[in-house]
This record gives sequence, structure tokens and C-alpha cells, in this order.
Amino acid sequence: MRIDLHTHSYVSDGTESPADVMRAAQAANLDVVALTDHDSMAGLEEAAEMAGGLGINFVPGIEVSCTHRGISIHVLAYWPDPSHPEIVAMLERTRAARIARAQEMVRLIGADYPLTWDDVVAHAGSADTVGRPHLADALVAGGAFVTRDDAFAEVLAGNSAYYVPHYAPDVLDAVRTLRATGAVPVFAHPGADGRGQVVPTSVIEQMASAGLVGLEVEHRDHSEVQRGRLARVAERLDLVHTGASDYHGTGKLNQLGENVTSPAAYKALQALRG
Ligand code: AMP
Ligand code: FE
Ligand code: FE
Ligand code: ZN
Repeated sequence: MRIDLHTHSYVSDGTESPADVMRAAQAANLDVVALTDHDSMAGLEEAAEMAGGLGINFVPGIEVSCTHRGISIHVLAYWPDPSHPEIVAMLERTRAARIARAQEMVRLIGADYPLTWDDVVAHAGSADTVGRPHLADALVAGGAFVTRDDAFAEVLAGNSAYYVPHYAPDVLDAVRTLRATGAVPVFAHPGADGRGQVVPTSVIEQMASAGLVGLEVEHRDHSEVQRGRLARVAERLDLVHTGASDYHGTGKLNQLGENVTSPAAYKALQALRG
């Protein structure tokens, strides 16, 4: 069984439709795949329908933007309740804040580079959740950079003069809400240090107390040393050890199935589904 529990479609910052992500999952010989768009559940129905037709086991998910004392944290949540008012409101508030933040970044960048809000809208046409990758695509289309990565290395980096943060819920509040409404929260790429600060282990302990179920140990952005450390943290805190690709279509190098979750770990997640 090949299980990949972290992928993105163009509902957030992937480049393919939810249905096409499922087709790509079949081509990559996956048996189980989750769609986990940033802060949006808008692609889940389409993906579920296509996966069903292809005979792939589909896990509905989201990747929830959160913060802890100014540090950005991503929490994957499997089987979120799509109609729970608290979940819906939490995601809506973040998506709205992301639009205002993207507009502010465009204003700052647009003073120095060829970039307008209309350019961004043209590249985020299918997106329910707007993010820096859409600014990257617009900058690339305008000729300022060659790839998304190039734009991220300069103007879009977290330490750039053009970077603006956006509201996101406190991670402990979010984990409590997700778990209380039946979802299964897993800390996404907890050791990825290329995106800004990594949270100390004490925060993972607090998240575990708040209802965190798993740690995404196997991820492209983790070194072998980080994987070893996180595997031990998962073991000690009785958290499920997962792995996934974080596929974004052609928006990133990550390939479906490049990291996977074991059948036993998948079973453990399923057992905690509310
Ligand atoms: P945002 O949530 O708007 O702050 O943007 C962060 C998103 O940008 C992450 O979800 C990543 O998928 C994406 N990202 C980060 N670094 C890169 C990069 N170097 N190339 C392409 N996408 C990136
Ligand atoms: Fe992303
Ligand atoms: Fe993420
Ligand atoms: Zn992701």
C-alpha cells in the first residue's frame, strides 16, 4: 500500500485541479491519497468523486495556517467536518486575511517590480486561498524572475523587506478546535528550517496535550538528522509518525509518493477519526 497524505491543488497553491491531482495519484501508483489545500475545503468534493471513479482511497484534508508567538506553523487535519461552523469560520477568517496581506505585498513589491493586483488575480483565478506562490507566478509571467523558487529566494522570502505576515489562528486553539470537531491533526513539516523559525520541542509537547495526533516526519524539507530527532519525539509523545510528498503540481519539485506513510500509521490515524 502506497499512502501519500499531503497534496495541493489549484484550490490553494498547487497547479492542477483536484480531479487532476487524483489522476496524477493513480499514475504514481498511490493506493491512498489526501488532498490538503491550504485553508480551504473547496476541492474536497471534486477530488473525492474522481478518486472514487479511479478506485483510489481518498482522505479529505486541509493544511491549516497557524501561528505560535509569531512563528508560522502548518497543521494538516484529516477528515475535517466540512459544515462545522467553527472550522468554516476559522478558515474563512484566514482566507480573508490572506487577501488583504497579498494586496499589501503587491503594493510594496509593485513599487520596485512589474506587478499589479490584476496580474495576481489572473494567476490565482482558480484559487480559494491566495498565497505568495500566486505572487511568484505573476512575477514570473511579468519577467521579473524565471521560476517560483527564484521569486521566493528574493522578494517573497520570509525575511524580505516586502514580506507581510497574515492573521492565522494560534496553533493550540486550532489543534483543540480541530480535534474537538472530529478531525485528526498532524503537524506538517515540523522541522523544515528553510521557511523561517522552527518551533522548539516544547511547543510540540503543548500541541500534543492540545490533541495533536501525529508528526509529519518524512518530508523533503527535513534532513536525515531532523528526521531522526522528530522520529524520537513522535515515539516519546506517542504521536503517529507520518510521511508525505507535499505535492504542488509543477509549482514545486516535490513528486507524489516521494515520501509515504506506513499502513500501520494510516490505520492509527483512521482509528482516531471522529
Ligand atoms: P504563504 O502561505 O502565502 O505565506 O506562502 C507559503 C507557501 O509558499 C507554502 O505553502 C509553500 O507551498 C510555498 N513555497 C514556499 N517556498 C517556496 C519555494 N521556494 N518555491 C515554491 N513555493 C514555495
Ligand atoms: Fe503550499
Ligand atoms: Fe506547509
Ligand atoms: Zn503543504
